[in-house]
Amino acid sequence: MQQNLQAIAAPLVAWYQENKRLLPWRRDKDPYHVWVSEIMLQQTRIEAVTEHYFAFMAALPTVQHLAEVPEERLLKLWEGLGYYSRARNLKKAAQVIVETYGGSFPRSYAELIKLPGIGQYTAGAIASICFNEKVPAVDGNVLRVLARLQADSSNVLLPETKKRAEGLLRAIMPEEAGDFNEGLMELGETVCLPNGLPLCESCPLSAQCRAHAENRTAELPVRIKKTQRKKEQKTVFLFYSPQGELALRKRPAKGLLAGLYELPHVDTFLEEPGVRAQAQQWGLEPTEIAFLKDCKHLFTHIEWQMRCFTVAVKEKNDQFDWCTAESLESDYALPTAFAKCMD
Ligand code: SF4
Repeated sequence: MQQNLQAIAAPLVAWYQENKRLLPWRRDKDPYHVWVSEIMLQQTRIEAVTEHYFAFMAALPTVQHLAEVPEERLLKLWEGLGYYSRARNLKKAAQVIVETYGGSFPRSYAELIKLPGIGQYTAGAIASICFNEKVPAVDGNVLRVLARLQADSSNVLLPETKKRAEGLLRAIMPEEAGDFNEGLMELGETVCLPNGLPLCESCPLSAQCRAHAENRTAELPVRIKKTQRKKEQKTVFLFYSPQGELALRKRPAKGLLAGLYELPHVDTFLEEPGVRAQAQQWGLEPTEIAFLKDCKHLFTHIEWQMRCFTVAVKEKNDQFDWCTAESLESDYALPTAFAKCMD
């Protein structure tokens, strides 16, 4: 769902200019200051960053100082901020700025994005804040504000949602590009707060906000993490007696599919000789083995990949229940995962 966001630009810029917090890196629009602070702020809270920022700038006041700092000294200055690769990339980028640009910060998004450790968000932030280039800088705060303004329930963790947000912002970016981007970030950090707690009464955009109008602020933004399912391979046996009955067994009383019936299976992929050997281990003598199909079933955290064989056996054994087609229908609860293994 998208709507014309044009109406937010003017009130947002005016609000930001009036209400912005006086953070140390906002005292000027020096790209070195903005850059170092933005990198420090990745994964780290403002309160934790401020002290480090002062110490860092006192020790390394210019990009030349950063380019020449011994690594150990640099890491010491970064101590407590974590993610040390950020510090190493800062130095690498500083060296490029000194060697390629004579120590002057590149002024365009296109050049900034090529520097080590500078991604789309940071390049957009520096280019817009320091050089007023009309490029977006979209982080989690901005995505949250946009999702609520539009009452858009797209998953904000998907790259396509971010890309769409960048396109929308690019289309409405005013001349004050830096204040507009910082305004969105600031609004997300101080007013349009996460976890269903936005301060809509103090928001300069409440008149334009659909989530506020529709009382849906608590449900937005939508964040759906891709679940990493553990993959398990199984060989599933459809044993048939000479009377055409199918072998089933009961699952344990606890755990996945507790207490339901299942087709006998083992936790690995077998080929025909393995299928025969396993049947014999269960006390069954195969008279015919045929590969039936491969199929899979998704549980919340597990994916079963199943290789299914039909196995005709000489006679029934005692350790399985042998059911007819009718009793399978009427008396046994066979989970979908195993129903998929049957024709
Ligand atoms: S009105 Fe509320 S939900 Fe909408 S942008 Fe403002 S703070 Fe966020």
